[in-house]
Amino acid sequence: MHQENKDSSQHITWKINKKEALILGAIFLVLLGLIFWYYFLRPTTSHYKTADIYYENELIESVVLDGKEKTWTLELPENTHQTVDIEVHIRADRKIEVLSSNCPDKICVHTPAISEPGQSIACLPNHVIIKIEE
Ligand SMILES: [Zn+2]
Repeated sequence: MHQENKDSSQHITWKINKKEALILGAIFLVLLGLIFWYYFLRPTTSHYKTADIYYENELIESVVLDGKEKTWTLELPENTHQTVDIEVHIRADRKIEVLSSNCPDKICVHTPAISEPGQSIACLPNHVIIKIEE
């Protein structure tokens, strides 16, 4: 009797596995996808750092360091009295750096990429400062 029960339960288990393996597999994949989406792709920016870009102490741009790589040239307010050509790069590791600049000293270009609150990259000749928000 005992032996018989064991056999039948094994049989049922086998049937379920065979019939529903694909469905279970699909559910598992969906759950895995949801977990992945929740932790890595969820469109929230609250836990990312923000970099503020200033020109002559005026905030011209705020960018979120969310790991989406982006390279762009700073756009300054109109009627500025100088030509500023600064190319900024957000890296996949959520840091921001200056790729190129038309300033004479290139200190900003040589400043390592920043990501921590309080850190900044300054291009004094161009009056541009990039700061990580506190
Ligand atoms: Zn510079």
